[in-house]
Amino acid sequence: MKLRVKEALCIGCGLCVENCPRQAISLQSGQARIDRSRCNECGLCRDVCPRMAIVELVPVSAEELYATIASLRQRTGSIMERIESIHSGNADPETGRD
Ligand code: SF4
Ligand code: SF4
Repeated sequence: MKLRVKEALCIGCGLCVENCPRQAISLQSGQARIDRSRCNECGLCRDVCPRMAIVELVPVSAEELYATIASLRQRTGSIMERIESIHSGNADPETGRD
């Protein structure tokens, strides 16, 4: 289990620092930072964080990543087509359909 700190959620309260049994977390510029070389992946910091700012990194295979990107590209393309269609006046502005 690899953990990381979501910077946007961390408020620098220091609870994770106080509770880490390996002194693997420090506050830097008001943000928690995990030193992976010290971390034993016990998960305590994640459990005590009041902001749920410490999350598990989920390993993803290259195939899954490519499939996700392809799907996002397809959906983006479809949305762009509908927007262009609306702007060109060929579509119903309510539904976006021709
Ligand atoms: S407990 Fe959560 S909010 Fe507080 S410093 Fe740690 S990561 Fe940031
Ligand atoms: S998982 Fe455990 S050892 Fe690692 S940073 Fe969090 S509290 Fe410390």
